[in-house]
Amino acid sequence: MRVNQPKESVKKRPPRKNLVALDGTLDAVSRMHLSIWEKGKEASPFEVRMVHRDAVREHVDRSNPFCYNGGICLGDLLREMVCGRQEEFIGTSFCTGQEGDPEDLGPHPSCATRFEINATLRFR
Ligand SMILES: [Zn+2]
Repeated sequence: MRVNQPKESVKKRPPRKNLVALDGTLDAVSRMHLSIWEKGKEASPFEVRMVHRDAVREHVDRSNPFCYNGGICLGDLLREMVCGRQEEFIGTSFCTGQEGDPEDLGPHPSCATRFEINATLRFR
């Protein structure tokens, strides 16, 4: 007897590629300091800090357990900063996810998680 067989339809999302660490975006950056605070449902109480280019992540995930496809794309922010040779960014990014399994019926309110970002780049 088979019990608790996982549904065939459950798809595992492929891991996101950490493009920003590979695509040369940060080649012109000599020093950086990123600090990110998550605010919202079950938000992490810890500051995410990145001061080494190797530690930079393309994507910052959220902690809200009801959120699907959420998080923010840090890579895009950094690409924009580097493109405009912008040295400072202080701002808020909202999670792009929605609450509730997208395959379920019912309302899927936007996730209210937000990320307060403070980024400093120094260019060569
Ligand atoms: Zn979210």
